[in-house]
Amino acid sequence: MILDDILNIIKKNNLNNAYTIDNKTFTYNQFYKYVCNIYNFLLKTNKEKKPIIVYGRKQVYMKSVFLACSFAGMPYVPIDASAPKERIDRIIKQVSAEMIVGDININLDENIKIISTEKINEIMNGENYSYIENIYMKPDDIFYIIFTSGSTGIPKGVKVTYNNLNSCLNWLLKITKINQEVILNQANYSFDLSVADLYLSLLTGSEHYIIDNNDILDFKYLFQNLKKSNATFAVMTPSYAELLLTDKSFNESLMPNLRTILFCGEKLNRFTTEKLYSRFNNLKIINTYGPTECTFAVTSIDIPKNIIDEIPIGKEKDDVKIYIVDDNLNELSEGMIGEILITGDSVSKGYIGNDVKNAFIEYKGAKGYLTGDLGYKKEGLLYYKCRKDRQIKYKGYRIELQDIEKNIELITYIEKAVVIAKKDEYGNVKRIIGFVKLKENVDKNISEIQNDLKLKLPIYMCPYIKIVKQFPLNENGKCDEKKLLEGY
Ligand code: AMP
Repeated sequence: MILDDILNIIKKNNLNNAYTIDNKTFTYNQFYKYVCNIYNFLLKTNKEKKPIIVYGRKQVYMKSVFLACSFAGMPYVPIDASAPKERIDRIIKQVSAEMIVGDININLDENIKIISTEKINEIMNGENYSYIENIYMKPDDIFYIIFTSGSTGIPKGVKVTYNNLNSCLNWLLKITKINQEVILNQANYSFDLSVADLYLSLLTGSEHYIIDNNDILDFKYLFQNLKKSNATFAVMTPSYAELLLTDKSFNESLMPNLRTILFCGEKLNRFTTEKLYSRFNNLKIINTYGPTECTFAVTSIDIPKNIIDEIPIGKEKDDVKIYIVDDNLNELSEGMIGEILITGDSVSKGYIGNDVKNAFIEYKGAKGYLTGDLGYKKEGLLYYKCRKDRQIKYKGYRIELQDIEKNIELITYIEKAVVIAKKDEYGNVKRIIGFVKLKENVDKNISEIQNDLKLKLPIYMCPYIKIVKQFPLNENGKCDEKKLLEGY
């Protein structure tokens, strides 16, 4: 399985570059030392194999801790440093973690051990270490838990097993055909898009070139980094590519070796692929589709240069079956739009705790997941249409609008909130607006509300705020969203 392969590859590639971050490059030898040291430390200190929270901003230790946890048979839970304290606190409670790696600054129960950055660096760099003798992770064990936005206002933790990930990565190796590349990472580790570049680089003896998300704030620095990377393969969201494309210098002269971009996470539109193909002559674009609940992605297609219609999401991987179903789970025929139901080896173990919607079901004798995505099949290919519910993608992030509403309403002086995603003509979300009604006799302004909300939600989920005196109603007596949006 993949951990055996990774261990062999790390040993074989000892002097090659394993990864680069913040202009520092680490060889597979150095990486192996870090992983061995952390692995031995974890085996001694986390005997019950409880989930380990790995907190940070893509620092050097994070990748080493992920792999050490996996070899030691412990699930890891990545949390990006941009997550606000209240959300982190909820995650820690949900997974009953007893160890957090990273410089986290919140009040915690005294039985939770924090391994600071300084401490983990000291552990990683220990000189007298023993090699990894045993891989403790079993096929049905939880490999990682990734949290996504939940409609109840509490983030949902998706439990992905070693089997799930093994199946995903073997498929990715087949569809990407990569070997010793330089693989560009864009996504945060707390977003499952990063799973593809993280493990594909390890499985192919490639260099993982890690882009800090703060780089996006400084295009000049980001572009220098893209150039320096010499990347041949990139994993990104369409939103990220669209952002890079706003600068004309994002082209073949900047990244002459770039041969493949693997997309996932959002609808890919024709204008994006057309622009990319016109700027990069020898580029291959792969569109993949899937939710975190089904381990990164389950369908793929190489997008031809001359595509004139809607972009398909492709064909499912061999060990997965996809059905288009109606509300009663009856299969719909070709061309009809219905919910995308995924069954098979990619379907994860479900959420931590209980899922209110019960999206994990059994279907035709297999484990299934009702995605909430609407789509259809045509001439052997799958197409994504839109969401069935109020989940959106904004700047590549998955967000439940109810999650924002519930958290605004947790602010004590707010009576009610209605959150609306304003979309452009192509269906892309351009802005999220939170309309709020204050409780009687409360005098608060927009920036006070925004500051209170930042304590509860990651910054990308914090909407523009508009205070209203009353919510307009439509003829059914429901909040009239169209009226609310007038003027936006
Ligand atoms: P996440 O769990 O963050 O990966 O988000 C999963 C959701 O992103 C899916 O349920 C879809 O709504 C959307 N999504 C992922 N990939 C694609 C794609 N290639 N095209 C359209 N939507 C996508």
